[in-house]
Parts: sequence; structure tokens; C-alpha cells
Amino acid sequence: MSAAAVVTRFAPSPSGELHLGNVRTALFNALQALHAPDGRFLLRIEDSDGARSQEHFVTALQADLHWLGLNWADVPLRQSQRHEQYNAHLGQLLARDQVYPCFCSTATLEAQRRAQLAAGQPPRYAGTCRHLDLAQRAARLAAGEPAALRFAVPTGQVLQFDDLVHGPRAVPASELGDFIVRRADGSPAFFFCNAVDDADSGVTHALRGDDHLANTPRQLLILAALGLPAPRYGHLSLLTGADGSPLSKRHGATTLRELREAGVLPAAVLNLLFRLGHSSSEPALLSLAQMAQAFDLTHLQRAPAQFDAAQLLHWQREAVQALSPGAAVAWLQTRLPAHLDEDTRAAFVAAVRPNLVYPADLAEWVAVVFGELPPADAEAQAAIDGALPGLFAAAAAAAEVHGNDFKAIADVVRAAIGAKGPALFKPLRAALTARLQGPELAPLLRLFPAGVVRQRLERFT
Ligand code: GLU
Repeated sequence: MSAAAVVTRFAPSPSGELHLGNVRTALFNALQALHAPDGRFLLRIEDSDGARSQEHFVTALQADLHWLGLNWADVPLRQSQRHEQYNAHLGQLLARDQVYPCFCSTATLEAQRRAQLAAGQPPRYAGTCRHLDLAQRAARLAAGEPAALRFAVPTGQVLQFDDLVHGPRAVPASELGDFIVRRADGSPAFFFCNAVDDADSGVTHALRGDDHLANTPRQLLILAALGLPAPRYGHLSLLTGADGSPLSKRHGATTLRELREAGVLPAAVLNLLFRLGHSSSEPALLSLAQMAQAFDLTHLQRAPAQFDAAQLLHWQREAVQALSPGAAVAWLQTRLPAHLDEDTRAAFVAAVRPNLVYPADLAEWVAVVFGELPPADAEAQAAIDGALPGLFAAAAAAAEVHGNDFKAIADVVRAAIGAKGPALFKPLRAALTARLQGPELAPLLRLFPAGVVRQRLERFT
């Protein structure tokens, strides 16, 4: 792997199901890797918080990513299995006095914090234990006093970084205060593990949620102290609902599982997310490879990106029409009547697909073609009531001869009573399908069980 090769990662914490916001982060990282020659996209499971992590979420998020076609290289790193590495890095920092033990109790820290706030100062660690001399430290450690490890933030530095989304940032180190890198219970801080993992995996670009922007200066300090390279960070703006509030249950289905169970297609999800916070002038449905080609870090937008259900619907329609015939059958598999042979299935799906957005939409066409016709809706009833005299009689007689051949039936009716255009087609469609909107009639009718066309027409003779 050359030094310049792009390595990106998606680093979810398995404490819940993936929702659109996480998935967009995964997508952008995957695209950044796919865009580059020799790029690699990694998955890392950030399960260092044992209390909140659950194994079934690890399984589920991998299944979600596979379903989307976002495939990662290598076996995912798991933070829960890397305590040795974290401790080794902490040991190095301790040996170089870049971290120090802190014995301050929660109560002491809380009192300090309150005093600082009351004095109008931003709360940060007062540095009490930084100034203990070696003998004092050794004695307290030997006495078994619980100690956290704090990072000794160098004074007088300004931390500068060029965020891939927010642009150049400068944070005076004095604003950070000495922060905890290992808690008194021995668990390393999340942002410590995260920084070390990126370096150990050779990550070059880390796109992640805006909520991690504040961690970045601390992570840069840690990596610099360890002599490890830092990735370029890019902090993606929050996904919000159309009302501007953070995306949540109120905005409808937002977890991948919910969307998948509703029959939303991966291409619809990907095309929607590709345009949320990443500007694109490409109006057509794109494949993952096309998105990767068009992905451009300079197109990332700083403003919060709004999720709009209407856009999801748009991409879903496009994705449904773009399915191959075989994939369309697979998408509808569980809702197709079990008794249909393979050819009939394929012909039925081909006939009704233009009228489907979700698999649930199939049910009404299964009823129309293979089951009991529901009562005509109002428009259809009006078309039936207004049909030219003799139309249904001529049509039923034609069906007797021509069976399910719609064109032949229509020709007979046209010749017999002179009906044409809407006056011909509307009543026939209404009588045969109980509605005026729907797929092209000829291919649909071919699938009706024998005798059904005639029976439905005869009801109105
Ligand atoms: N585990 C973090 C999260 O799920 C990711 C942090 C990162 O990507 O650097 O928010």
C-alpha cells in the first residue's frame, strides 16, 4: 500500500440500530475510499463502552451495511478486544510524563466546576494533581488511592487543523484543560481509543458526525504526543427532519431496518443520502460506482441537511423502475401468491411494476388479477354507469370468443357499437379492475384465470 493510499472507516458504537444519519456517514466514508485508486474502507466496532454495547446490534449493523452494498475490507477492529494496545500507548505517555495520575474525587471536581462557573469562568480541570511531586504521587499510588490518568496539555499551544467540512480551525490548548484519558476504573476514554485506532489502521480520512468536532483538538494532542499520524477529519452536519429538528421517530421510519422492512430499496436509500449534505447536480439514479466517481470532499456542505420523506419517495420510485426483472420478483417474493408458476410471476410483476412504490402496493393487484375484485371506486362506478348501451354485452360476447385477449375484445366492441377512446377503455377498465388507474390492461388481462374476464363484464349486461 503506498503512503498516499486513502483509508477511511466507519466506526459505529453498537448501542442501537443504524439510522439514516449513521448510514450517511458510512456511505460518505465508503465513497471517499471507492473514489480513490487503491482506497480502502474499514469498519470498526466502537464497543469500548461495555454497558451500552450489545452484540445483536453488531450483527445487525453489519447486515445493514451488506444490504446497502457498503462492503468493508479486513476483519473489523473491535475496541473491546484492544485494551492491551490502549494500555501500551498509555504506558508510553506515562513514561514520558505526558499523562499523570489524578486523585481528585468526583465531589472535589464538581465543587471546582461550580466555583468556576460561579466566577464566570469556563469549567476546566484546575491542574491540582499535575503539580504533585513524584514522591507524593508514588505514595498515594502505593496507598492504593484510585487514580485516573490525565493528559498534560502543553501550555501556550494553538491547535490548528483544517476540517474537511468546516475549514480551518484554531483552538488554544489552554481552553481544553487537562483531560482524562483513562478513568479511575481503568477504562480508557472513548476519544483516546478512537484516535489510537485510526492511527493503528492507517486511516487517512475520518468523516464523522458534528458531535465529535469538540474531540478533535484533544485527539490531535494525543496523536502528536504518541508520535502517530492523525487523519484528516471532516465533521458532517446533523441530519434533521424537514422541520429542522434532529431526525427522530417523529419523522417516520428512519432506521435501516424499518426502511428495509417497508420494502425501501438500497438504491433509494443511497441516492437520497448521497445528496444530503453533499451537493450533486446529477439528477439521475446513480449506482454506487457512479456515486463514488462523483463524490467530492469539496462538495460537502456545512449547513444541516434536511431529510424529506418526499425525496425518499422520489428515489424509491426511480429505484423500483430500475430493478432488473429478476430483482423485481425477488423484491416482491413474499407477497406473490404461492401457487403461481415462475413465468406467471415474472409476467405479473412486469405488468404491475409501473404502479408499485412499495411491496405493500402489490396486494391490490393480486386481488384484481387472481382474487376477488374489490367494489368499484367512485370514478370507476361512474364510468360503468355512463357506458354506452350495449358496450358490456358486446365485450362479454367477445370475451367468450377471445378469452383474455384485450385487444381483440376492444376491436370487437369498437366495431359493434362504435365506441372508441376513453368511451371504450374507461368502462372496460372499470369493470375489469374496479378502478380507472392502473397498469396497461392487455398484459394484465392475460394473467386473469380463465373465464374471469367474461364474468366481470357480464355483471353489467
Ligand atoms: N463511535 C462514534 C459514533 O458512533 C464514531 C466516532 C468517529 O467516527 O470518530 O459516533
